[in-house]
Amino acid sequence: MHFDCIILGGGAAGLTACAALAGSGLRIALVERLDRVGKKIMASGNGRCNLSNENMNPAFYGGAASFVDTLYRQVPPGDVLGFFSGLGLMTCSEDGRIYPRTLMASSVLDVLRAACESENVTILTGQEAVSLTPSRRGGWSVQLSSGEGLFAPTVLCAMGGSASPHLGTDGAGIRLLETLGHSACRQFPALVQLRCDHGALRSLKGVRIQAALTLEIGGKPAARETGELLFTDYGVSGVCVFQLSGLAAQALDARKRVRLLVNLLPEILNVSTWFRERITARPDHSALSIFTGVFPRLLSMALLKQSGISPEMQVSCLHEDQIRAICDYISAFALPVIGTQGFKNAQVTRGGIALAEVDPRTMASRLFDGLYILGETLDADGPCGGYNLHFAFAGALAAAKDILSRQ
Ligand SMILES: Cc1cc2nc3c(=O)[nH]c(=O)nc-3n(C[C@H](O)[C@H](O)[C@H](O)COP(=O)(O)OP(=O)(O)OC[C@H]3O[C@@H](n4cnc5c(N)ncnc54)[C@H](O)[C@@H]3O)c2cc1C
Repeated sequence: MHFDCIILGGGAAGLTACAALAGSGLRIALVERLDRVGKKIMASGNGRCNLSNENMNPAFYGGAASFVDTLYRQVPPGDVLGFFSGLGLMTCSEDGRIYPRTLMASSVLDVLRAACESENVTILTGQEAVSLTPSRRGGWSVQLSSGEGLFAPTVLCAMGGSASPHLGTDGAGIRLLETLGHSACRQFPALVQLRCDHGALRSLKGVRIQAALTLEIGGKPAARETGELLFTDYGVSGVCVFQLSGLAAQALDARKRVRLLVNLLPEILNVSTWFRERITARPDHSALSIFTGVFPRLLSMALLKQSGISPEMQVSCLHEDQIRAICDYISAFALPVIGTQGFKNAQVTRGGIALAEVDPRTMASRLFDGLYILGETLDADGPCGGYNLHFAFAGALAAAKDILSRQ
C-alpha cells in the first residue's frame, strides 16, 4: 500500500504527529503493534496524564539540554499547549505540572484520536513494523508483521524506548533504526524504583516519610532530591527516588559504589541539638516513645535497632555515643543501592538513538532522507513532571511542521 507518510508507533509522539498532519490532505498510515493506540498515554501520570510543565527549562534534560533547547526554540512550550488547546483540550496546573482539566488521561487521548479521524488517515492497530528499508525507487518500505508492505517517501519513527514493555515498548524501534545504520547509546531504566541491600528494609515495608535523599556515587554526593519516600521490601520508591534512578542505574552499570543517604528529618538543621532538647524536655520517656509524633513507629523501631538501643531504655540514660549514633542515622540513613526495578517498572528509557544523528529543528535523521525520529526512541529523557510527554509532543510538532513545509 502506498502512502505519503507512514508513522510507526501510535503513542504520544506518533499520535501527535498524525493529528498535526491529518488535515493536510497527505495520505497517512499510522502503525501500532498493540490492539489500541495511546495505551501509555492512558497509564501516564497515574491515569491523569501530566502532559507538560510550566517550567520547561531544557537544563532539566541533562546531557540532552542543548538538543532540547534548539527543539523548544523551534516549537516553544506555548505552541505545544496551543496545539492541544486547538484540539479542544482544557488544561489545569498543579504546582507547575500541567494536566488535562478533567484530570483524566483519556481526555488527552480522546482529543488526539478525534484529530486523527480523517479519510486520509489509515490507522493499523495490532500490526508491528518488523523492518524498515530505504526503497530502491526512493522513499521507504515498511514490512508489517502481517506480511503486508507499506511504501511512502516519508517515515516517522515514534516507537518509544524500552521502558514498560507491557505498554508496547521493548526497544524494537531503536533496534529497527540500528539495523538501518543509526547508532544507539546504551539504555538504562529511568524514573524507576531502586533496589537496596539493607537488613532493615523488610521491617520498614510500607513506611512513608518526607525525606531528603543524597545519591552518593563512588563515595561522593552526585545528586539530591526531597519528597515522599516509600520503603518497600526490595528498596525504595517515590518521585524523589525516581528522579535519582537514571543516574544510579548508569553508575551501577559502570560498577561504581552507589548509596542513598536518607535524611529522615530534613527540616531540622541541627539534629543533635534538636534531639538533646527533646530528651531534656522528656527525660522519663523511653527511647521508642521519644520519637512518637516524629516518625512512624516502624521507622523508630528500625532506627533504634540500627543504633543498638533497646526501645524500652529511658532516654535520660542514653550514653553520648548512643545519642551520636541515633543522630547520625536520622541525618543520613545509608542504603546501599544494588539495582533498579528494571525496564518492566521504569517510566522512561535513558539512552537511545544518538542525538548527533538527528536535526533538533526538524527531528529529521541526518543520515537518511525522509526519515524522522521522535520521542523516547532518542537519547533524551527528562525528570518526572511532564517533561517526557512534552518532549515527545514537541518533536512530533517540529517534524509535522517540516513535512508540511516541504509539500
Ligand atoms: C506508567 C507511566 C507513567 C508515565 N507518566 C508520565 C507523565 O505523567 N508525564 C510525562 O511527561 N511522561 C510520563 N511517562 C513517560 C511518557 O509516557 C513517555 O516518555 C512517552 O509516552 C514517550 O512517547 P513516545 O511517543 O516516544 O513513545 P510511546 O508513547 O511509548 O509510544 C510508542 C508506541 O509505539 C508502539 N510500538 C513500539 N514498537 C512498535 C513496532 N515495532 N511497530 C508498531 N508499533 C510499535 C508502542 O506499542 C507504543 O504505543 C510515563 C510513562 C509510564 C510508563
